[in-house]
Amino acid sequence: MNYLSTRINDLKESATIAMARLSRELQEQGHDIISLSLGEPDFVTPNNICDAAKKAIDDGFTFYPPIAGFRDLRKAISEKFKRENNLDYSADQIIVSTGAKQSIANVILSLINPGDEVIVPAPYWVSYSQIIKLAGGIPIYITTSVVNDFKPFPEQINNAITSKTKLFIFSSPCNPTGTMFSKEELKSIAKVIHPHPQIFILSDEIYEHIRFEATHESIAQFDFIKERVIIVNGVSKGYAMTGWRIGYIGASLEIAKACDKMQGQFTSGACSIAQKAALEAVSSEWDQYDFMRESFLRRRDLVLGLMKDIPGIKYNIPKGAFYVFPDVSSYFGKGNGDDKINNASDLCMYLLKDAKVSIVTGEAFGDANCVRLSYATTDELLIESMKRIKASLAKLV
Ligand code: PMP
Ligand code: GLU
Repeated sequence: MNYLSTRINDLKESATIAMARLSRELQEQGHDIISLSLGEPDFVTPNNICDAAKKAIDDGFTFYPPIAGFRDLRKAISEKFKRENNLDYSADQIIVSTGAKQSIANVILSLINPGDEVIVPAPYWVSYSQIIKLAGGIPIYITTSVVNDFKPFPEQINNAITSKTKLFIFSSPCNPTGTMFSKEELKSIAKVIHPHPQIFILSDEIYEHIRFEATHESIAQFDFIKERVIIVNGVSKGYAMTGWRIGYIGASLEIAKACDKMQGQFTSGACSIAQKAALEAVSSEWDQYDFMRESFLRRRDLVLGLMKDIPGIKYNIPKGAFYVFPDVSSYFGKGNGDDKINNASDLCMYLLKDAKVSIVTGEAFGDANCVRLSYATTDELLIESMKRIKASLAKLV
């Protein structure tokens, strides 16, 4: 008997996490698996940030924190918005949560009624679609293509808008494509949405610091739309702090209060010690962590150089984040003995079995022609994994 709720039965497991778990299990069984499936920096958290957490324990920050986050952290995030993005958010407009993932869930659950439509350009990050559905919303996907750097055209967004549209959600730099939107592109999106006062924009900027373009642009910079933009950000990626679980939003007071109320019932706020570590992270000049970005850029170029030699794949040049998202559809319909490749998921399972490399199917990101590889690992493993992938693909006829 299945006694679980329809809600949980209908919820799909995160494909990134599922693939990472499968590769970990295979590794534990002694298989020589290289995992390029989970997106997280391979650096340990910088010392100054860890020291702040140790001090927080010694200083007795072991009690429930304020639900919305410690005031000094919210103030430091407000200053970070001004310093790095030239955006004005008061500390009251900032809500600290247990990772950007929870920030996204707070916002979606606070805005979406059953039947509301949410426009999501594909490829999108895996969790958007599931959280939208959990809230009873209907994701409306816009398709893009590798030849256009996976960017939606403003007319496509315009055509997707209906009287039920409540939210537009996207990430820049984008997980999984690494696409970054320019100021002009963001302005055109803002202009399409502006005439519809019921539509909000969730701008996921978690990869802000992992960028290979000079500047990061936020759609919140346009005053005519700022009130309706919710910026989601956090410390996971830019400061190598995935395990600390601290994310935040900058939003209108009304939305900030809604998210405060939401997490007051769900989590009672984010971990007090992790918040003190995040305070050290966001208060510091980011330049001191630039060695991580430089290393991601070098590894991006390494992987792109190796991918050039693999026949039959198409890809864009990622401008940020730490993923490549090649179109592998030319391998569909091929096979190797009993292994038949009908889609990207088949290809991922084949590569796991034959090449012993774990990557994630593009289907989970809304693009069934592609697969996602995370290059946040060592040069040696990247070189070895690309060699194995090339050899396994060559066997497909
Ligand atoms: N947004 C995107 C696009 C991501 O890739 C991630 C990675 N997990 C998140 C949000 C959530 O980040 P966090 O670790 O802060 O929950
Ligand atoms: N954001 C990472 C990824 O896309 C972490 C996994 C997750 O949170 O789903 O792989």
